[in-house]
Amino acid sequence: MDYRYNHILIRYGELSLKGKNRNSFIKQLYENVKKALKGFPTLEYKKEHDRMYIYLHEEDAKAVSDILSKVFGISSFSLAICVESDIDEIVKACMASIDLNTDKTFKVAARRSDKTFPYISDQINRMVASAILKNSNWKVDVKNPDVKIIVEVHHDSTYIMTNRMEGAGGYPVGVGNKAMVLLSGGIDSPVASYLMMKRGVCIECIHYASPPYTSQAAQDKVLELARLISGYQGEILVHIVPFTNLQLAIYQNADESYAITLMRRMMMRIAAGLAKKRKALAIATGESIGQVASQTLESMNTINDVTNMPIIRPVVCMDKIEIINLSKKIGTYDTSILPFEDCCTIFTPKNPVTKPRIDKCVKFESKWDFEAMVQQCIDEAQCIKISPVKQKEEEDDLF
Ligand code: ATP
Ligand code: MG
Repeated sequence: MDYRYNHILIRYGELSLKGKNRNSFIKQLYENVKKALKGFPTLEYKKEHDRMYIYLHEEDAKAVSDILSKVFGISSFSLAICVESDIDEIVKACMASIDLNTDKTFKVAARRSDKTFPYISDQINRMVASAILKNSNWKVDVKNPDVKIIVEVHHDSTYIMTNRMEGAGGYPVGVGNKAMVLLSGGIDSPVASYLMMKRGVCIECIHYASPPYTSQAAQDKVLELARLISGYQGEILVHIVPFTNLQLAIYQNADESYAITLMRRMMMRIAAGLAKKRKALAIATGESIGQVASQTLESMNTINDVTNMPIIRPVVCMDKIEIINLSKKIGTYDTSILPFEDCCTIFTPKNPVTKPRIDKCVKFESKWDFEAMVQQCIDEAQCIKISPVKQKEEEDDLF
């Protein structure tokens, strides 16, 4: 028999709470895991009601684990030795699961999902423990063991594990439909993207670029941020919206203090149009209450007024420091803080209003045919497909 750690056992996350949706959750998770690991063609997969298994063959467990740790819907996973559900095999595999030449404490925790197995959990625990005690200097410590040997007995196979890796939690991406995230080059919107995906929502990103006032380097930074978060989803489409004309029109037709508010309203109109085109059901941003002038509740009301589509702000109540910590955890912080201009920073007025009024916005907007310009932005947005592995982006005219 092969007593090597060449399997991975995956424990489902919050989805176990979701009674009726369970099957579709498991199905989506299964698809997502396979998609994330498509670079390892020899892997074999098996899904069951409460667990998923991967047979590694000769693939590198560390490389596979690194990718798995980003798949939402997994609460934890373990490297496992897999043997047939036979008590002698189980005892031998448990002995092989630890280094008997060392001198540590252990505990055996068996669990039967197959109730026809002829030994109950407690008997399995005792048989394994006595074999280890007989053949080594290891000692039992049920309260605080150095090593916990977990034995899961299923109908065909039994899995033996001594380790446990954190999963990404959340719901499998895709079970929550799709949203468009406004992705700037800052710290907040990549974190907002991550939180949306964690709730099972598939995302596409929108970035507003204002060349020549914003540079190619600024755009590349946004694409790099998209690449960094794409590991949580597989691939991400980024829509680059040519925003210059609309922005200039705002500055020609409105008070400077209202420029940011009007710009946000235009961004929302464009996002709603792109969402419709791409069959997405919500817009998400990295706004947080009070962070800047345009992020007051008054401002959010005035901005939301242009669309009925839900505008989700995942970091709305988080402190900046919490957002920063999360951005460090997901690996976007170092890129986010690179100094590049954004369309917002370039046209930033000296005294933006903190309590913008809807009627004033409507008055400014009535001065020119902004709708045509909004439509042009939607029509002329360029779509770029981003994958987790660094490669030349596939620019496409698919849509
Ligand atoms: P971030 O750190 O995400 O840039 P911020 O604190 O700098 O946020 P703002 O610049 O006011 O805040 O932007 C608020 C939100 O508006 C951003 O989180 C993002 O969702 C959206 N946004 C701003 N500028 C752009 C842009 N050029 N393209 C796409 N979305 C943008
Ligand atoms: Mg910003």
